[in-house]
Amino acid sequence: MNTFEQIKEQNEQNICQTYARYPLAIIRGQGCSLFDQNNKEYIDLLSGIGVCALGHCHEELCKVIEDQSKKLWHVSNLFYQEEQNELAQLLLSTTHHEKAFFCNSGAEANEALIKIARRYMRDIKKRDAYEIITLEDCFHGRTYGALAATKRENLTHGFLPLPEGFIQVKAGDLEELNDKINEKTAAVLVEVVQGEGGVIPLRPDYLKGVALLCRKNDILFLCDEVQTGMCRTGTFWAFQQYNLKPDGISVAKTLANGIPMGAILVTNELSNAFTFGAHATTFGGGAIASAVAKKVVEICLRDKLTNRATNLGNHLKKSLENLKSSKPNKIKEIRSLGLMVGIDLGYDATEVWKKLLEKGFITNLCHKTVLRLLPPLIIKRDDLDNFVQALNDCL
Ligand SMILES: *Cc1c(COP(=O)(O)O)cnc(C)c1O
Repeated sequence: MNTFEQIKEQNEQNICQTYARYPLAIIRGQGCSLFDQNNKEYIDLLSGIGVCALGHCHEELCKVIEDQSKKLWHVSNLFYQEEQNELAQLLLSTTHHEKAFFCNSGAEANEALIKIARRYMRDIKKRDAYEIITLEDCFHGRTYGALAATKRENLTHGFLPLPEGFIQVKAGDLEELNDKINEKTAAVLVEVVQGEGGVIPLRPDYLKGVALLCRKNDILFLCDEVQTGMCRTGTFWAFQQYNLKPDGISVAKTLANGIPMGAILVTNELSNAFTFGAHATTFGGGAIASAVAKKVVEICLRDKLTNRATNLGNHLKKSLENLKSSKPNKIKEIRSLGLMVGIDLGYDATEVWKKLLEKGFITNLCHKTVLRLLPPLIIKRDDLDNFVQALNDCL
């Protein structure tokens, strides 16, 4: 068995050094626990950045992969596949949308959303409208379109020029949005809770205002549900918290619980823009990923994970608020929706993050000052209580 130092060295020799990794090599996972090379157990409060909402090596998902792996892996989208059909039907039953397009990641889903929005304006609306408006502190991915939409300087450094037609406005400011909308605007794209931005839930009245401005100006209202979707915030999709009706959404992360998969879900009207040959992907909607994702959605619905996210989210928020009251200068703010939680310390949180790791709790450091939690939705209340106790000790 290799030591941690050996594993780290092999990584540095062979892999592009684009990631600041945790000082851990993970060997296996079970439920909400991960185990390192010394078989030390960690409670996983990050679930692979909001991916493994059903935890690790979920028995029913293992069975689906095993069975599907002996039936059909991949044939491409040149063929009809029932796995894909069944997933689409079930996924669409959770929303007002009527058509799906499957791909392989969050960034790719946003690329599809941007492309369908522009093409819809040109081909269906017959308007030369192509500008996509996004919000400051958003995150939509690392490919060029998604990066142009994200527009964050530390992410774009050295990669210019970006594709044109992406405008950014301050979140929360309807007036600025109103000023920026013009005859070239195709769509406004928002996250209901800005995840990578530091877990910042947008105000309900602001979101409703954005949707209304889009309707009034006859442009598209789009939501990036890559991190907020799939029950995470207490409704199947975060936009459903506020009765919004986005024309299209992007989905990924939890969709296949760790098997790469993304999707856009759109209205019939918007789907008219994606005609034969308009967009494609070799892997998207493959049989294995589709079979797993279908089971993930089934379990989400069957086990009412929306209720679980709400109840456990409220419980955790209350405990954290109590902790904040007892240590007012140690925690600045708790921001959360369901089991999407940001603990903003208001100062460099690196030491606390590191101590939590030593105590066996995996959290994510976000914007230096924020501890972000995206626990599996199947997490036990005891694990959350133990975490709050550990955080108390670390502070
Ligand atoms: C993670 C994330 C993405 C990018 O997803 P990838 O699969 O890493 O490309 C896009 N949007 C949001 C909101 C995300 O959280």
